[in-house]
Amino acid sequence: MIPAMPLPAQPRRWQALWREAIADPHELLALLGLSDRAAELLPPSDTGFALRVPRGFAAKMRHGDPADPLLLQVLPQAAELGEVPGFTRDAVGDLASRAAGGVLHKYEGRALLVATGSCAVHCRYCFRRHFPYAEETAAANRWREAIEHLRGDASIHEVILSGGDPLSLATPKLAELTDALATIPHIRRLRIHTRLPIVLPERVDDECLHWLAGLPFQRVVVLHANHANEIDASVDAACARLREAGATLLNQSVLLAGVNDGAAALAALSERLFAAGVLPYYLHLLDRVQGAAHFDVEPSRAFAIMDALRIRLPGYLVPRLVRETAGAPSKIPAEFDAAMAPRSGIE
Ligand SMILES: *Cc1c(COP(=O)(O)O)cnc(C)c1O
Ligand code: SF4
Repeated sequence: MIPAMPLPAQPRRWQALWREAIADPHELLALLGLSDRAAELLPPSDTGFALRVPRGFAAKMRHGDPADPLLLQVLPQAAELGEVPGFTRDAVGDLASRAAGGVLHKYEGRALLVATGSCAVHCRYCFRRHFPYAEETAAANRWREAIEHLRGDASIHEVILSGGDPLSLATPKLAELTDALATIPHIRRLRIHTRLPIVLPERVDDECLHWLAGLPFQRVVVLHANHANEIDASVDAACARLREAGATLLNQSVLLAGVNDGAAALAALSERLFAAGVLPYYLHLLDRVQGAAHFDVEPSRAFAIMDALRIRLPGYLVPRLVRETAGAPSKIPAEFDAAMAPRSGIE
């Protein structure tokens, strides 16, 4: 049984912080002392994917630096507007693998539930920037269909809550979902893919912890940080609380040109994650999504960066470099995917 949820005495603080997120690129540039560079930094027309960044995340950006690795992840750029061959709207074949309202069942034993389309932050490289969430989220009153799909397939042992960001749902809504999942005997693990503890650590509040700690599943939380500067004391605290609630903490990153495409940046990220009690899991080669080509890193360079990373770090701090390939039965280790690609030297 899941214990009853205590009612919050006042509106949840994280939801207020969510609503106060920066949505105007000019405001963000002004906060960073970059207003006079706006004409050069911002795209000349609408990119179709709005800026959104929580104030706490913006506060971790370096003042006056247009190349700040956190800023580059969220600031709309002119480069998004061009069409680049090979960069498409459904880069990972999600639309082909949906099983029932909001369920993506691509890999054996694991099913991914698109719990919501909302995110606290909008990452410019996101492969879901073109995803038709309005039709495909399980929360759009269609949990019943998703739950029945999971119940009907006894090969599924792990449910992955994804999105969007599943922790953007209010905790009672999540509890509603996990109460239903708890009635399915073959589900043993619940995995949550979330960037919220990084970009809005206040999300990991008492109510969230109480919910997580009471779940009748093994719990895995896969965070998403791309640069060591994203992790500060408030993120440390959120991670400590998640571990207290019994979650194993992992991190996935995306290899992003200009943000973290060097062994020094990635080594610093792994070290900082481990200091927060988080193990690196995947380092994704960029999904070839339209509007994100300027973040792409050539596989040969990626392999060279990984070679340098393996020399610098203990093996358990080296993430697995993967490429998601439409139709493949798992994420493909990038080295296997393109074993013939030559290696080039890096810095
Ligand atoms: C990435 C992904 C998973 C999880 O894969 P792991 O290798 O277990 O981390 C599951 N389902 C879908 C659709 C995915 O994209
Ligand atoms: S799904 Fe993840 S990567 Fe995409 S915008 Fe949301 S937080 Fe960023």
